[in-house]
Amino acid sequence: MSTVAGGGASSTVAGGGASSTFAGGGASSTVIACASCGKKNRVPAAAAGVPRCAACHAPLPWLTTAEDADFDRVAGESPLPVLVDLWAPWCGPCKAVAPGVEQAARKLAGRLKVVKVNVDRAPAVSARYDARSIPTLLILDNGVVKDRQVGAVPPDALLRWAEQALRRSAA
Ligand SMILES: [Zn+2]
Repeated sequence: MSTVAGGGASSTVAGGGASSTFAGGGASSTVIACASCGKKNRVPAAAAGVPRCAACHAPLPWLTTAEDADFDRVAGESPLPVLVDLWAPWCGPCKAVAPGVEQAARKLAGRLKVVKVNVDRAPAVSARYDARSIPTLLILDNGVVKDRQVGAVPPDALLRWAEQALRRSAA
């Protein structure tokens, strides 16, 4: 169920071609600057606890990526609810939602993990969540889909949507 009104643009995923050759790996950690003190911290893609700044202990924005091989570890076993951004480099509306996705990671640091999934590199994940149009945004809690938003939304609407989904999954 989508709570964001208004039909945003979206791209249709061209079906078929499952000729995916993985360049392997995926990011296992990312360097993220602390929003409170500016210290650069290395944040793991998957961890049992919420990443915190080594200097001031503020929760860090948790923005990472996953592919088919590591999606269950990175998004399924997260200690926080996860915003999954299913996107592709060739998708214009996906570029439009990217700043909103990054803002949600910053403003909801410590409450929400954000995992960006390039559908070209994650055909099994896109099939599992039926992502026929992108961008598709999902809120996962313990691996279960709590909410879904298809199409581009402005950053502030995206943030409100994510906050509402978090309140619902906490209730
Ligand atoms: Zn800090």
